[in-house]
Amino acid sequence: MAPRRLSFTAEVVAELAPHVPPLPCCRAALLVGMAWAGEPGAARAGAELVTTRPVAARAALGTLRADRLRAHVERRRTPRRVRYRVTVEGDPPPPLDAPERLSAGMCCTRTLLRGAFLAGGAVSHPERPAHLEILARSAQTATALGDAFGRLGVDATVVERRGRWLATVRTGEAVGVALSVIGAQGGRLRYEEGRVVREMRAAVNRRINGETANLRRTADAAVRQVEAATRLRNDPVRWEGLPQGLREAAELRLRHPQDTLERIAAHAGVSRSAMAGRLHRLTESARFAGAVAGNPHSNPARGGG
Ligand SMILES: [Zn+2]
Repeated sequence: MAPRRLSFTAEVVAELAPHVPPLPCCRAALLVGMAWAGEPGAARAGAELVTTRPVAARAALGTLRADRLRAHVERRRTPRRVRYRVTVEGDPPPPLDAPERLSAGMCCTRTLLRGAFLAGGAVSHPERPAHLEILARSAQTATALGDAFGRLGVDATVVERRGRWLATVRTGEAVGVALSVIGAQGGRLRYEEGRVVREMRAAVNRRINGETANLRRTADAAVRQVEAATRLRNDPVRWEGLPQGLREAAELRLRHPQDTLERIAAHAGVSRSAMAGRLHRLTESARFAGAVAGNPHSNPARGGG
């Protein structure tokens, strides 16, 4: 069996998870971010983190350990997914998600978002339409995460989906910047490569569609011209009555049904627009002839055999 390919979200999470922030202010911010994001259902708000990702739970433990805080992880199977609950020990336990633990430094704002992404973030595959989101525990924390993105110049929107709150980033450029600010440089590179592929593919598709439409129009026009020329030639009176230039255009089109307008014009030694005008008048004449041909009494070419 082929190994299951990691989703792009899993790749980004795997890139972010091993790094324990070196500064104490950032370690606090990482845990605040994790507490703000992820799953609802913390029994003792402030002392717990709940996430569906074992790698995020491990990152939280590593960060707490760096500050000599003891914690334990509980694995719980719920009907829809497995949840990991990280509980800080102590009496009373130090609050994890208190905003007053946050410094105003950019280092902490970035790390806050990194923690939030680790616990509850997702990002679309680089070749798919751009979308990054962080599932938040509440409307309030979703707004706080959106504001943190805003402070770093990333345009984020807070939305509610099926009763859950999310901070979302939705343009290709902003998703790229968001990956950088949370510290996923590898993810950013992968993402930008995919974005180039996606944009190039869209441009190629637009061009192919345009060319296909042009080819179809040209082919349709040639078919109409061949029909018109055939109909006129089968009506000797009308055929003889055609101006010389139109008759020549009809003959050329019959002889070269696949040729482009340019080639037909070249055969006649006239400009492209002159030939376009002649072929247009040819189809108009045939339409008129066809209407008349519908009445056998007015068409001496028929029945005279
Ligand atoms: Zn910091």
